[in-house]
Amino acid sequence: MDKITRIGVIGGGQLAWMLALAAKEMGLSLWVQTPAATDPAVAVADGVCYGAIADGATTAQLAEHVDVITFENEFVDLERLQHLEQQGVCFYPRLATLAPLLNKYQQRRFLQALGIPVPAFTYLGDRPPSFPCVIKACRHGYDGQGTFVITDEQAWQQFQQRWPEIPPQGFLVEAFVPYVKELAIMAARSPQGEIALYPVVETQQVAAICRWVMAPAPIAPQVSEQIQQMARQILTALDGVGIFGIEFFLTATGEVLVNEIAPRTHNSGHYTIDACVTSQFQQHLRAISGQPLGSPDMRVSAAVMVNLLGLAEPQVDYGAKCQALAALPHANLHWYGKSQTYAGRKLGHITVLLEDPAAAMGIIQEIEAIWYSTPVAV
Ligand code: ADP
Repeated sequence: MDKITRIGVIGGGQLAWMLALAAKEMGLSLWVQTPAATDPAVAVADGVCYGAIADGATTAQLAEHVDVITFENEFVDLERLQHLEQQGVCFYPRLATLAPLLNKYQQRRFLQALGIPVPAFTYLGDRPPSFPCVIKACRHGYDGQGTFVITDEQAWQQFQQRWPEIPPQGFLVEAFVPYVKELAIMAARSPQGEIALYPVVETQQVAAICRWVMAPAPIAPQVSEQIQQMARQILTALDGVGIFGIEFFLTATGEVLVNEIAPRTHNSGHYTIDACVTSQFQQHLRAISGQPLGSPDMRVSAAVMVNLLGLAEPQVDYGAKCQALAALPHANLHWYGKSQTYAGRKLGHITVLLEDPAAAMGIIQEIEAIWYSTPVAV
């Protein structure tokens, strides 16, 4: 294949923005497909095709400007893209890799067939599920949108009131996992099957949105090895090309279950920009442009990443908070430049590099005290 130097991304949010910054450093050009001129990646992309994420006609236009097309999110119209692939458009990851992943129910089935542990699950039908359980929209869920923890009859009634009819894509219902930690790994694979695994990290979600990430996770080496082994198995079975984020639950008995595979760059890998030899964004671009993978090793002994989410209180002085955060030792602030700042929106993140892993939780609390009026109880 000819040298790949022109990258197309379906999506224009902060992941595409960070991918575009990495592309610039690597001398690659990057175009995005996005509906809104105010999206972060528009300001740094080499070109933009305006259109909805699932609009195949816009992707056809994008294909005229680039050598390979990749994805910022899972909300694409796979059938429309398959026509383009048949006409010779190159997608990485391949569409056959995405096919079992886009629908959460099918993703669970795929993992189950590989013998990888997942929470017990089924389609939501007419009968009430047993509590506690978690109901998830099979498609188009993100940051907890489309995820409902149902603890009791009252929560079930509320869910039914909100969704008197089940939408065509359906809901998945699964057992609530009483996990002790949520873990994640970034894993990259080249078209030749070379794999690079980043360290396993611990993540904390608040209201189903990632709040912080601790790298590496404070876990037993055998748990880490088990997760790395699962990541290898999953990427190989998918014939995946590019970077993948995989999320896990760790239970009190040491059992590891996969929660979700994201076939793209991922929030739990943002720490890699400042803390690793090769960032997840550079690694993804290396993989999809046919360059050898870079080292996923950490350059420091530990790091923490905290998401800076939009706050509910009115008139927040985000500038003053950013200044206070940037003044922390070994802090790297990333501000996405979003034009609207509603509550819960991912506005930026901060990564602090640490010499002593034992200092991680203290730093997270320090950052939370600056940014959030109500720090998370840990
Ligand atoms: P999204 O795709 O919106 O990120 P997830 O399926 O990853 O949705 O769920 C978001 C969060 O909800 C998880 O990170 C976890 O904190 C919680 N959660 C999801 N599924 C379960 C489950 N089966 N048991 C317990 N908590 C869950």
